[in-house]
Amino acid sequence: MPYRAPVDDYTFLFDHIVGLDQVAATDRFADATSDVTTAILTEAGKLCEDIIAPLQRAGDLHPAKLENGVVRTSPGYADGYQAIAEGGWVGIAADPEYGGMGLPMTVTTAVNEMMSAACLSLQLAPLMTQGQIEALEHHASDEIKALYLPKLISGEWTGTMNLTEPQAGSDVGALSSKAEDNGDGTYSISGQKIYISWGDNDFTENVCHLVLARLPGAPAGTKGISLFLVPRNIPDENGNPGVANTLKVVSLEHKMGLHGSPTCVMQYDGAKGWMVGPEGGGMAAMFTMMNNARLGVGGQGVGAAEGAYQHALGYALDRKQGKTEGDTGTIIDHADVRRMLMTMRAETYAARGIALLCAKAIDMTTATDDETWKSRAALLTPIAKAFGTDIGNEVAGMGIQVHGGMGFVEETGAAQYARDVRVTTIYEGTNGIQAMDLVARKMMDGGEAAARIFDEIETAAEAARATFPKMAEAVWQASETLRETTEWMIAQNHRVRFAGAVPYLRAFARVLGGHIHLQSALNDQGGAHEKVARFYIQRLLPEHDSLLAQAQAGDYDVYALTPEEFAA
Ligand SMILES: Cc1cc2nc3c(=O)[nH]c(=O)nc-3n(C[C@H](O)[C@H](O)[C@H](O)COP(=O)(O)OP(=O)(O)OC[C@H]3O[C@@H](n4cnc5c(N)ncnc54)[C@H](O)[C@@H]3O)c2cc1C
Repeated sequence: MPYRAPVDDYTFLFDHIVGLDQVAATDRFADATSDVTTAILTEAGKLCEDIIAPLQRAGDLHPAKLENGVVRTSPGYADGYQAIAEGGWVGIAADPEYGGMGLPMTVTTAVNEMMSAACLSLQLAPLMTQGQIEALEHHASDEIKALYLPKLISGEWTGTMNLTEPQAGSDVGALSSKAEDNGDGTYSISGQKIYISWGDNDFTENVCHLVLARLPGAPAGTKGISLFLVPRNIPDENGNPGVANTLKVVSLEHKMGLHGSPTCVMQYDGAKGWMVGPEGGGMAAMFTMMNNARLGVGGQGVGAAEGAYQHALGYALDRKQGKTEGDTGTIIDHADVRRMLMTMRAETYAARGIALLCAKAIDMTTATDDETWKSRAALLTPIAKAFGTDIGNEVAGMGIQVHGGMGFVEETGAAQYARDVRVTTIYEGTNGIQAMDLVARKMMDGGEAAARIFDEIETAAEAARATFPKMAEAVWQASETLRETTEWMIAQNHRVRFAGAVPYLRAFARVLGGHIHLQSALNDQGGAHEKVARFYIQRLLPEHDSLLAQAQAGDYDVYALTPEEFAA
């Protein structure tokens, strides 16, 4: 079944759940009216269906290669990327002053999700560039902005993020790449970075790396890290890519999936770079890119889930096997296949709604600079990232199961979704790290941002009681239990919080999902949204009880075994 862009789902979510009209009511995003966003999504959807989705298989079968130091991308990727760039999709959220569309992150998230569903490994290239654009918009000098932003926004140049080193993965503060001041406003960057997504390609005239490195005498840890823009080709006085910089791709990783995305080991040998943000402020500047990418990666999970769901649905509507209760004579009539497809659809929808709520909070922050929106965006980002990618993995796994034996056979393409999406729970901060961020940094406000969300969910559930008493009660109760657990969590030390962080994050997402489904049911009474909401609230939401029990189980059992006992 070819990929079909879920434009109607987005429009429904924008109108009834997310409240995109509130974003469009701000001066900053006044152009993002319902008509405009629907037209934009329709256009992006066509691109994804007709041009991007056909590249998914080619990338898997013909991975990017390194030939004599040059990265050769998968067949068709150059044209696919060109179509993305020409459509203006790289710069969809970027500042119009430099050629961007200036659209809200809410709309960007929807477009990026469709692109990920169509071809995850190609979509990672514009996603990285979008993060770099945002980091430069916020932290670069006016000269750098004027030179680089138009090229990145138009898609003529791409951007990467370089944090990871062999000894510095989750612990970025352990990185040892060096920067030396050349005394002329430039720096010489040396060191090795690993796992750099789209570290090079053969279809743009330049690739710009944002590299974290340390100046001599810088303090240890994250405080001593600065950020540098290091282009593959150093722009000449007219802004054209000039001489080659002293950096190279040493090798490409052989991965279980995402074959079309070149994952590069990069070597910098005194490469010329420009500082972005203040000395020692590298992590703060890079965090702009990372937060953007975290929501983007959550969206990748949702996209992969949608792709896997549609793929499995197509198979289920076609495959005849066994005597069935229903009329189609295909496996979609079997109860367990229905259970899987309903789960896939309900989970994908919940994760999509969470990503969009997070994106809206980012937009409202951008438009109003209001602290309440800012803290909501910060709180929702790790949830959108971790839940979106967990669901991507679970739904893609279920997609294989729906296919039976054919799911395990590569030709159907079901396995590719599962292989490609696997990394999304790992990169951009593993999901374990996201959960720790949620229960530690994001609770430094004493749980105020979370409490505001619980208030809203409970008020909305109260209002829904007249129409859907059982569903409303389930959502209200779930929110209240989560509120109590949050209060308990905040009273614990970090060791206890961290031991319960992953189930806590998932329970939070479950409750948000319940709210999203309940509100969807109210706005589509008797329709498909109500039916899917009933499934989610009756069968999936109850998981929050056991998750919250795990979240409050303390740290003893997690730490009970000694390393020797583990190995015994
Ligand atoms: C395909 C791919 C593309 C990537 N793209 C990029 C890129 O473009 N740019 C870039 O800079 N990096 C990139 N990465 C690197 C990625 O961000 C790291 O792999 C990731 O941050 C984890 O680091 P690590 O692999 O060193 O694992 P480790 O940090 O060694 O983690 C191993 C395990 O320990 C856990 N762990 C580690 N520290 C803690 C802690 N403090 N508390 C609790 N648990 C902890 C982790 O959750 C994980 O389960 C990419 C990786 C891959 C595989």
